[in-house]
Amino acid sequence: MNNKTGAILVLSGPSGAGKSSLLNEIIDDIGECYFSISTTTRPIREGEIDGVHYHFISEAEFKKDIEEEFFLEYAFVHGNYYGTSIKPVKEALSAGKLVLFDIDVQGNAVVTNRLGDITTSVFITPPTLSELKNRLESRKTDSQDVIERRIEMAKKEIQRISEYDFLVVNDNLQEAANTLRIIASAARVKIPGNEINDFVRGWEDI
Ligand code: 5GP
Repeated sequence: MNNKTGAILVLSGPSGAGKSSLLNEIIDDIGECYFSISTTTRPIREGEIDGVHYHFISEAEFKKDIEEEFFLEYAFVHGNYYGTSIKPVKEALSAGKLVLFDIDVQGNAVVTNRLGDITTSVFITPPTLSELKNRLESRKTDSQDVIERRIEMAKKEIQRISEYDFLVVNDNLQEAANTLRIIASAARVKIPGNEINDFVRGWEDI
């Protein structure tokens, strides 16, 4: 993927960490951006809209998309497939936008590996595991079974924080949003390695 101007900001963290609330807080302040809408095989939740929160498709369709190399990355999370489509991301990057991903630790590893030059990654978490449990239980969107699975997943994900550039503890929404705003601004001005070399060559010529 050849891009000169755009940049990627990966947001990961357990479901219930407050990623969507934080994004809503900052979205109007971080300039031109594109939120990558993932494709998933998980059942649609109450309040979700197909094509807005996710593209909801069947497992057979998802597997076909994998074969057709439709995804920049994909992963099996909580028993369902989730994937990031390449095409809209490419377009947004060529338009110089900041591309926002809400993907898990596996997705971050792939994106960082493929596009690390232009990627900044943030892990977002509630302050404690018990706070995460409270949040998941009070939002009442998942069965107890699903909540247990998400908690087990969170315990594993938290072990991989060191793979991220930044950690944001979402205890106070406003404070966490302020931190994320700063990170988003920095992500946008991250200079890809090839551009650094061009810059240095040009600079020495003067
Ligand atoms: P949820 O089912 O709560 O919407 O999301 C479950 C998990 O899947 C979250 O950790 C979220 O970040 C992750 N996820 C959502 N979309 C993608 C994607 O396209 N790729 C990967 N790797 N993970 C995703």
